[in-house]
Amino acid sequence: MSVLAAVMTAPLAPVELREFPEPELAPGSALLRTLYSEVCGTDVHLWHGRLSGVPYPIIPGHVSVGLVDKLRGEMRTVNGEIVREGDRLVFFDVHRTCGRCRACTVTRTPTRCESRRVYGITDSAAEGLFGGWAEAIYLEPGVSAARLPDAVPAETYIGGGCGLITAMHIVDRAAISLGDTVLVQGTGAVGLSAIALARLAGATTVIAIGAPADRLELARAMGADVAIDLQRTDAAARLAAVRELTGGLGVDVAVEAAGSARAVEEAPELIRDGGRYVIAGHYTDAGPSSLNVHQQINRKHLEIRGCWGSEVGHFVRALRVLERYHAEIPWRAIGARTYTLAEVNEALADAEAMRLPKALVKPH
Ligand SMILES: [Zn+2]
Ligand SMILES: [Zn+2]
Repeated sequence: MSVLAAVMTAPLAPVELREFPEPELAPGSALLRTLYSEVCGTDVHLWHGRLSGVPYPIIPGHVSVGLVDKLRGEMRTVNGEIVREGDRLVFFDVHRTCGRCRACTVTRTPTRCESRRVYGITDSAAEGLFGGWAEAIYLEPGVSAARLPDAVPAETYIGGGCGLITAMHIVDRAAISLGDTVLVQGTGAVGLSAIALARLAGATTVIAIGAPADRLELARAMGADVAIDLQRTDAAARLAAVRELTGGLGVDVAVEAAGSARAVEEAPELIRDGGRYVIAGHYTDAGPSSLNVHQQINRKHLEIRGCWGSEVGHFVRALRVLERYHAEIPWRAIGARTYTLAEVNEALADAEAMRLPKALVKPH
């Protein structure tokens, strides 16, 4: 039996459909029949060749959900349960984090581990089915997998997808306190989940800045009190709006999920003195931002924190959040349109043009 997969052969080249042999399973591994994968902003960056160290050709699709089709030997979930054929399984895309290096042990920054590999991003198609834009995904031994809670529809999980898991990390880094005012810059998949999680974390006012108009509507549905249209306002108008919503102070915490150097330049004015700024959207190099350090950081006593990738715990806790809140928070609506494998080039083009917050891929 062979497996059909969509392969990104090189930056800017059209994605091609290729047949792969069904892999031989190592002990403790599984083959998933893919239910859904996604096209996110990272996939657009991959297609533009803007991520370093990508071993093209690759099978993109780093966050996915599937059914266990085949198993060899014993495989356990991160929660210790035995995996069985037919289970609805999800898995953390980052694998092979070593647990021994300086990043893993001394500085406790495992998202900076140099051994770490990511399904759909840093795994080559030459090694096999390591991406979700395929009829089947190989879960190698040691991958952190979990059963998708029964109540959570697969469409809801993938609608949240990588953006939700990243936003879990953002909220940790943001250390939001009950009663905080929070600004989220960016209304893509990461920003939309950050809005919902900031609310759950206790923010009493959540302000979003983003575009286009349909995403602002979604931002409000996700929990933003106010969604400011980036395209129809200038910086002065945004500053006035944020000041007005925060008693003239600026927000306690701001989150950058826009991937824009200009957003970073704007944020310090929108944050109160002594506030906190978490930068998560610069997953690729968006170029330098210009700040007046005296006025905007030093005298302001501003705290700036980066946020790179996510850890297994964010994935596991995201599943708990979905189990509890899937009916109340419209993650499902983020995955606005579903594409077949044959339509992935169209999906990429739609994601590139920001015609939708997220494209879903349904290989069967
Ligand atoms: Zn390591
Ligand atoms: Zn992603």
